[in-house]
Amino acid sequence: DFAALPDLIRAHGRERGDKPAIIFGERVVSYAVLDRLMDDIAFSLQRDGVEPGDAVAILGPNMLEYLLVFLGTLRAGCVAAPLAPSATPEQLAAMVADCGAPILFHDAAHAIDVPVRKVYLEHLLDWIDEGVPAPVRIAPGDAFNIIYSSGTTGTPKGIVQPHAMRWVHIGRAPGGFGEAVTMVATPLYSNTTLVSVLPTLGWGGTVVLMAKFDARDYLTLAEKHRGTLTMLVPVQYRRIMADPEFDRFDLSSFTLKTCTSAPFPAALKADILARWPGLLVEYYGMTEGGGTTALVCNAHPDKLHTVGKPLEGQDIRLIDDDGREVPQGEVGEVVGRSGAMMTGYHGRPDATDAATWYDEAGNRFIRHGDIGRFDEDGFLTLLDRKKDLIISGGFNVYPSDLEAVLVTHPDVVECSVVGMPSEQWGETPVGFYVGAGEPAEILGWCNAKLGKTQRLADLVRVDALPRSAIGKVLKRELRDRYSA
Ligand code: ATP
Ligand code: MG
Repeated sequence: DFAALPDLIRAHGRERGDKPAIIFGERVVSYAVLDRLMDDIAFSLQRDGVEPGDAVAILGPNMLEYLLVFLGTLRAGCVAAPLAPSATPEQLAAMVADCGAPILFHDAAHAIDVPVRKVYLEHLLDWIDEGVPAPVRIAPGDAFNIIYSSGTTGTPKGIVQPHAMRWVHIGRAPGGFGEAVTMVATPLYSNTTLVSVLPTLGWGGTVVLMAKFDARDYLTLAEKHRGTLTMLVPVQYRRIMADPEFDRFDLSSFTLKTCTSAPFPAALKADILARWPGLLVEYYGMTEGGGTTALVCNAHPDKLHTVGKPLEGQDIRLIDDDGREVPQGEVGEVVGRSGAMMTGYHGRPDATDAATWYDEAGNRFIRHGDIGRFDEDGFLTLLDRKKDLIISGGFNVYPSDLEAVLVTHPDVVECSVVGMPSEQWGETPVGFYVGAGEPAEILGWCNAKLGKTQRLADLVRVDALPRSAIGKVLKRELRDRYSA
């Protein structure tokens, strides 16, 4: 029962043509108009010699033209390659070369120097010719998009997601998405954003796109449009809940709020449950796919420290350093398998192999690089990324355990713990926090609550934690800063 997204949108254009598909500021694009624009963009790509299967690179902030190009690219049977505006010009040039895109759509702020055809997003309408594109047939295995990994842990790799994987995302979304008004405040190039935008459009709901996130603007817009659904990252929830005017906004229209991409503190989940009505679901997964877990927070208030259970159809296991499954209740690296898996890293069979694990029956799993543990009820607790694990004096120290203690200090707003080289211990934990108070006092307070092998060697107060565009703490930068 596979269906390709451009065909689903075409059907909505015919059946519910007046319905708003995308709202961006004062601009509203109905399904009929969206369907026609996708045709025109596909026609114009073909006019420029772009062929089915070619990548189309897109670079810029959230804007209406960005989403139109993304969808028109799919109509042409091409592969969307959304690039992170936060990447350096060198990284961006490497990404354009890597995906082989013959054309780049970019905004004025990102006119990078690359030897391909370039089109300003601001002038998209001048580039477009009206026309009916030559029809293309899309197969489930065809690439839908290439997303460059955020580089949280290293050089960006191009994650190729096939239409079949996107169909799992779209098809798994409940039918209620057809009535959804989805509030979008995360960057469009990110998988975190696409997993709510694509099902909304696939089911005929409405996407309300924000140019950039601001807590007060979000609340105002959500109330105005009677938002029903949203996918936000933890730091955005924290800012929204901290808005002193939060309780004055009517958010009763929301039926589903979701969160993913970074650790979501249990206390924050509890605060949202208490003050923002509707379901709150946390997802754990990655752009590469593999396994996804979900925690329906309302149903399991006693499990808020976990990321929930594997979704139906997801097989998630935990393995040790030798690639053997660990016994129930023990800690191991997460590997996952499902219908939603990347094809591989573009042009990087070595990296793809390194990210693959096979079970005894020869089934392919994707290594997540995260360390976790299942409790007796089957809920997964994440400890840390494997690369962030601190081995101090031969003991495994999980930064997340230390962060969980540190953040309960009344003066600490947010914090992060990283391992630093130590002559005596090999590695030793060092903390960073945003907030008030004296680091020495908080350090003593925290260490009194920690086990002997876990204690922080140092604690540094910072104005802000370095974060990626999607709000993940960049531990690499904290380490560099500390050793400088
Ligand atoms: P890179 O692979 O380049 O380092 P990335 O891993 O940050 O980038 P994504 O695929 O977007 O890129 O993120 C997936 C990762 O995000 C997971 O492996 C996990 O570490 C983290 N993550 C996702 N969801 C959650 C969650 N609910 N709780 C904690 N961490 C999460
Ligand atoms: Mg990753």
